[in-house]
Amino acid sequence: MKASEIRRKFLDFFAEKGHRIEPSASLVPVDDPSLLWINSGVATLKKYFDGRLNPENPRIVNAQKSIRTNDIENVGYTARHHTFFEMLGNFSIGDYFKEEAILWAWEFLTDPKWMGLDPDRLSVTIHPEDDEAHRIWREKVGIPEERIVKLEDNFWDIGEGPSGPNTEIFYDRGEEFGDPNDPECYPGGENERYLEIWNLVFSQYNHNPDGTYTPLPKKNIDTGMGLERMASVMQNVPTNFDTDLFQPIIQATCREAGVTYGENRETDIALKVIADHIRTLVFAVGDGVLPSNEGRGYVLRRLLRRAVRYGRVLGIQRPFLYRLTGVVAEIMRDYYPEPEEKKKFIERVIRGEEERFLETLSEGLNILEEVAERARKEGRSAITGEEAFRLYDTYGFPIDLTEDFAREKGLTVDREGFERAMEDQRERARAARKDVDSMQVQGGVLSDLNVESRFVGYTERTVSTRVA
Ligand code: ATP
Ligand code: MG
Ligand code: MG
Ligand code: MG
Repeated sequence: MKASEIRRKFLDFFAEKGHRIEPSASLVPVDDPSLLWINSGVATLKKYFDGRLNPENPRIVNAQKSIRTNDIENVGYTARHHTFFEMLGNFSIGDYFKEEAILWAWEFLTDPKWMGLDPDRLSVTIHPEDDEAHRIWREKVGIPEERIVKLEDNFWDIGEGPSGPNTEIFYDRGEEFGDPNDPECYPGGENERYLEIWNLVFSQYNHNPDGTYTPLPKKNIDTGMGLERMASVMQNVPTNFDTDLFQPIIQATCREAGVTYGENRETDIALKVIADHIRTLVFAVGDGVLPSNEGRGYVLRRLLRRAVRYGRVLGIQRPFLYRLTGVVAEIMRDYYPEPEEKKKFIERVIRGEEERFLETLSEGLNILEEVAERARKEGRSAITGEEAFRLYDTYGFPIDLTEDFAREKGLTVDREGFERAMEDQRERARAARKDVDSMQVQGGVLSDLNVESRFVGYTERTVSTRVA
């Protein structure tokens, strides 16, 4: 089953259950300074959950594009993590609650008319004190006791406001995916034999300012299923990257690099990271975010530079990412017309950014080799914070790029030292700015130098790369 069909069926299923289909919102949060990116389906619906707005229909279903940067280190290494992914979710704003949410999730997953998964391959986790969820899974659904796992972590709490237990549904991919002796091989463990596909959150309490919990008069349901994971299950492939959502991107990169997917671990990691990051870039630029040195823009810059470096691992020397824009647009067009509509613009932005980074990449990589060699000679297991900072400051190497490289060489990076060096530099820049500001006040003649003042104290080459 193609991913687009899974998405369609999810929306149709819940529409049949009386839900209004809400279109995917922009990746850039609106009126929500607490979030850098929309990172889940519920993130765009907060206005209903916190009572600021009353929805016309209390039942909502959506497919929401999401970005999570906390998973960046997992990308390419696990079967299931992306920086950009789609979350399919059904929501109840003070309408139905646990029983419907659980029974419908089960119906969607197991009914042959919908996903038709083998029920024996599904297991669930619940909160140890959520007797109600336990009873529904046990008695209404009929899941055997040994496939209901109690986890203390299954409680959704973001501080003050609505909170509550959750239940997660896992698909057993089979023995070949996990060593049963691995202590992490259980639903909710690190081992990926049991793949988490769906999270159902029951927000039934208010977390009060004094730390107590009281039942909410109107209880809500908030769920999220990863489309890419569901696609890997339905297409019976080992990772999300083997689905129709990623394969055309990976194959296009293979052609560009003259490599084959599935032959070598290092090559595959590079191909997966590139396929992941280009989707994020295309959609974020499509939503109006441009690479820059701070905030969302810096996330894009980091992702792009990382992808370019992985391109180099594959032997690609020229700008190539921008040409994957069309491939992403083609895969996603039936639900997301924007990448295709804005293709020219997105290509231009990505290409410009690639060209800029390629100017310092080779030299930076040479320095990085030297740094790793030095660490090895001196018997260190880590690249120092100072070294990582110099690569960042002079060659524009984001810290995660240096960390990837280190990981490949069996080294780590002194992240704390790096942060310290960053902070020292900020201090110096602040001090320099203060000087300029005070001069402005005194004479006014220096006001035109305002922009330049940020770069006082750097070497000339640093200035040029950082301005870029
Ligand atoms: P995991 O434990 O695998 O990291 P999670 O518990 O952090 O996932 P949730 O916050 O529960 O994820 O999100 C709901 C669903 O969204 C998950 O069950 C999964 O299907 C999907 N999902 C979450 N994070 C990612 C990601 N980084 N890439 C792809 N899908 C994801
Ligand atoms: Mg996670
Ligand atoms: Mg989880
Ligand atoms: Mg989860």
